[in-house]
Amino acid sequence: MTRRPAALCLALLLCAAALPAASAEVPTPESVLGFRVGEDRRLADWTEIVGYFQKLAAASPRVKVENVGPTTEGNPFLVVTITSEANMARLEEIRRANLRLSDPRVLGDDDARALIESGKVVVALNHGIHSTEVGASQTSMETAWALATGQDPDTLDILDKAVIVMLPSHNPDGTQKVVDWYRKSLGTPWEGGPIPFLYHKYTGHDNNRDWYMFTQVETQLTVKHLYDRWRPQVVHDLHQMGARAARIFAPPYVDPWEPNVDPALIEAVNGIGAHVAAGLTTEGKKGVVIHALYDAWSPARAYPHTHGGVRILTECASAKMATPIEVRFAELEPGIGYDARQATWNFPDPWPGGTWRLRDIVDYQLSATRALLQQAARNRAYWLRTSYEVNRRAATRKQPYAFIVPGEQKDPLATAKLLGVMRTGAVEVFRARAEFKADDRTYPPGSHVILMAQPFSAFAKMLLERQRYPDLRQWPGGPPQRPYDVTAHTLPLLMGVEVVRADAPFVAALERVDAVPVARGSIEAGRGRFFALGHRTPELVALGRLLRAGVPVRWTTAAFLDRGRNFRPGTLLVPENARARLEPMTRELGFLATPVTAVTPSLLLRKPRVGVYQSYVPSMDEGWTRFVFEKQLGVDYVTLHDQDVRAGGLRDRLDAIVLPDQPRRAMVGGNPAGSLPPEYCGGLGKEGVQGLKSFVEEGGTLVALDSASEMPIADFSLPVTNVLAAFRAERRGEDEGDQGSKDFYCPGAILAAQVEGVSTSPLAHGLDATTPIWFENSLAFEARGGTVVARYPAENPLLSGWLLGDKYLQGKAALVEVPLGAGRVVLFGFRPQYRAQSWGTYVALLNALYTSAVTPLAQ
Ligand SMILES: [Zn+2]
Repeated sequence: MTRRPAALCLALLLCAAALPAASAEVPTPESVLGFRVGEDRRLADWTEIVGYFQKLAAASPRVKVENVGPTTEGNPFLVVTITSEANMARLEEIRRANLRLSDPRVLGDDDARALIESGKVVVALNHGIHSTEVGASQTSMETAWALATGQDPDTLDILDKAVIVMLPSHNPDGTQKVVDWYRKSLGTPWEGGPIPFLYHKYTGHDNNRDWYMFTQVETQLTVKHLYDRWRPQVVHDLHQMGARAARIFAPPYVDPWEPNVDPALIEAVNGIGAHVAAGLTTEGKKGVVIHALYDAWSPARAYPHTHGGVRILTECASAKMATPIEVRFAELEPGIGYDARQATWNFPDPWPGGTWRLRDIVDYQLSATRALLQQAARNRAYWLRTSYEVNRRAATRKQPYAFIVPGEQKDPLATAKLLGVMRTGAVEVFRARAEFKADDRTYPPGSHVILMAQPFSAFAKMLLERQRYPDLRQWPGGPPQRPYDVTAHTLPLLMGVEVVRADAPFVAALERVDAVPVARGSIEAGRGRFFALGHRTPELVALGRLLRAGVPVRWTTAAFLDRGRNFRPGTLLVPENARARLEPMTRELGFLATPVTAVTPSLLLRKPRVGVYQSYVPSMDEGWTRFVFEKQLGVDYVTLHDQDVRAGGLRDRLDAIVLPDQPRRAMVGGNPAGSLPPEYCGGLGKEGVQGLKSFVEEGGTLVALDSASEMPIADFSLPVTNVLAAFRAERRGEDEGDQGSKDFYCPGAILAAQVEGVSTSPLAHGLDATTPIWFENSLAFEARGGTVVARYPAENPLLSGWLLGDKYLQGKAALVEVPLGAGRVVLFGFRPQYRAQSWGTYVALLNALYTSAVTPLAQ
C-alpha cells in the first residue's frame, strides 16, 4: 500500500469531526478484526491494523491518524495522535508551546514558567520495532481503543494532561511479513518458530540500532514526524525478550549509562520505570523485574536521552509468536541482576511458571502503558520542567566550547554525511565564512563548527568524542559483565573524518546552515591522456558508476610522477574521453580529477560480478551489506542462497563472493532439519563449501567478513589461524550477545590497525597508515602465508570503547589476503561496513571487490 490520497485523509478527518463523542459508536478491535486481540494463534496483520486505526479515527474525536509513509517496502507508516477533544481542538497550539520549551535560549524565566504551567506532557508509544516480538502492535489497538472510549476519571485525566503520539508499528513491512509467515506456519512442526529471513529488508533486528546514524527510512520518518514535531518528554518502547526469564522488565537500567545523559533524565527513568513496575505488581501481575539486563550506554537505541526526554524500555516474556507455551518454574533462568526463581528487592514476586500466551503479553503491555501514562499525566509539570532544565543546562554548556570539522578533509562525502547526522539529530551546525583560529590552529573558510552551548549538544558531544567504557565484572576478578550492546560510537573514527575539540572560546564569522552539501570537487585545468583520481570512498563510488557505463578505468600499482607531481599507488586513471561523465561526479561526490599523461604499471578494471551469500539463518550483517552496496556505494550484486552455492559453477558467473559476518556453524549447518520447511534447512553443507572452494581455485575472490572467516580457514585449510578462537563463545541468540572470557573481551569497539601492504597488495590502497576499524567479538589472525594487509600495533590498539586483554591482539593480523589456486580469499577480522557507519573502512571492502575483475597492464 502507498500513501493514502489527500482527499481521503480530509474526508476521514471531516467525518471524524462530524461524529458525536459517544463511545458506543467507537468500534472495538474485536468488532473490526473478527477476533479478540491476543487470542491464541491469531494475529492481525499490518493491513488489518491500519484498517482498524482508520475506523477508530473516523469514529473518535480523540484520535487522529496520519500516514506519513511509505516505508522501505512501500507500506503505510502510521502516526496516531490521541488526546482529549479539547486538546485536539488546539493541538497545533499545544505542539508549538511544547517545542518552545525545547529551546530555553529564547525563553525568559516567566515564559518558561507559564509554558510549564499550561503545557501538556507529550508521551510517545513505539510499538513493534522488532517484528517477531509480535505483542506490541496487537496491543496498540487495545491501548488506542481504551483511550478513545474511556470515561473514567483516570482516562480523562490522562487525556486532559497528555498528548499521546503512537506508532502502532515502527516496522510495518516486518509486521506484515512476520504475520504472513506465522499464518503459514500454523499446524506445522515449526509453528511460531524462527523465520528464515530478516524482518526488516536491510537491518533485521538491528533496526533499533539506528537512532544516531538515521540510515533507514523508518528511523527518518520517526525523527521527522514524531521527534522533531513533538519533542516528547516520555517515550515507551515496547519489546519482548526470551521466554524463560522475568515476565516483564521495566527500568531502572543497570550500569553503565552514557555519561553525556543528564542526571535528571536518569532519575526520571528510574522514577517512571519503577512506577510502571509498581503498577503491574499492584494489579497482581507476577514476574516483574527492574534494574536488570538492560543498560543505557549505546545511543543507538535511545534518541530521547539526548533530546530532553526519556526512553522507557519494557520487555515482556515471549510465547511462540501467538502460540502459547508451557514454562515450568524449574526452567526459569538467571540473568544480569536477578534470578527468575528467586525473590529479590528488584524482583519481589516471581512468576510460578505455567502457560504463557500472547494474551498475557497484551495484558502486561496494556498495564505497563497505562501505568506509564498515569505517571506522566499526574506529574505533567515535573516532566515539562525536567525537559526544560535539561535543555537549558545543555544550552549553557561551557566545556568543550565547540567541535570543529576542518574544511579540508580526505573524504568530503563522509564529512557531509557526518554533518548530516548532526543536522538530523537537531544539532545546529555553523559554517565559517572566513579563516579563523582556535586553540592555536588556523582553519580555512568552509570549515564547520558545532558550538556546545545549544539544547541538544549532548547528542553531538557523545558522537564526536571517544568513549571510555568502564571495566565492569560479574564479580571482582570474575568474567566481564557484558554490555547490552556495543561500547563505542565515535563517528569521526568510524567515518574517517577529522574533527577537532576546541576547549577555549574563539571568534569566527559563522553562519548557521540547514543542510550540509558535499564540498564541491572539480576537474583541474590542463590536458592529458587520463584523469588521475585519488583512492578514497568518493572516487571508488565514481569508479563503480564508470565501470557500469563501460569506461575502461585503470588502477595504478606503483607510484608515479607526472609534471612534477607525485601520485600514490592506487591512483585511478580515467580515459580523457570520459570527461563528460566524470565531471558531474567530481561535483557531486567532492573529489578532484587531475589530467596526467604519464604511464605506469596498472590493472585494467571491468565491472566485477558480485554475489552476496544470504543464509536462511538470517545475518543482520548481510542486510547491512546489501544496504551499503545499494544505497551508499553503488555496488551491483546478486543474492546467493544455499541452493545456488551448492549447485556449483559459481566462477562462470561471478568474480567475487561476499560472506557476511556469520559463524561457521550457522553457515555450513544452517537451520536444523524439522525446524523450518525443508528448503530452509541444512545450510551450505559439504557441497556448498566445495562450491565456494572451487570458485576460488578457478580464479574467484572470496571475501569473508569477520566471523565468516572461520569457514574458509577451517574448510579450505588456509595457512591462517584465528588466535582468538579459544576466547570465542558461541552466540546465545540475537538479543543475548556473546559471553565474554575474563581474559579477552571486546564486544564492539574501535581499534587501531596499521596498514602495511601498500607496496604488496592493492587491498591496502587508499587506507591511512593507521586506520580505525570496528571490532565486535571479532577474529585476529596469524598468517603463515599470503599477505598481511593490516595488523594490530605492538601496543594497546583501543581507540574508543572497551577492550579487555589487548595483549592478545598486539602484532596480530586484522586483514589478510590468501592465494588459493588461481584465486584468493580475503579474510577480514573486523566489520568494514559496520551498520552502514564505518565509512572509514569501506575502501578496504571495495578494494577486495574491484580487484576481482582485472587485467594487469605493463603500462
Ligand atoms: Zn526487541
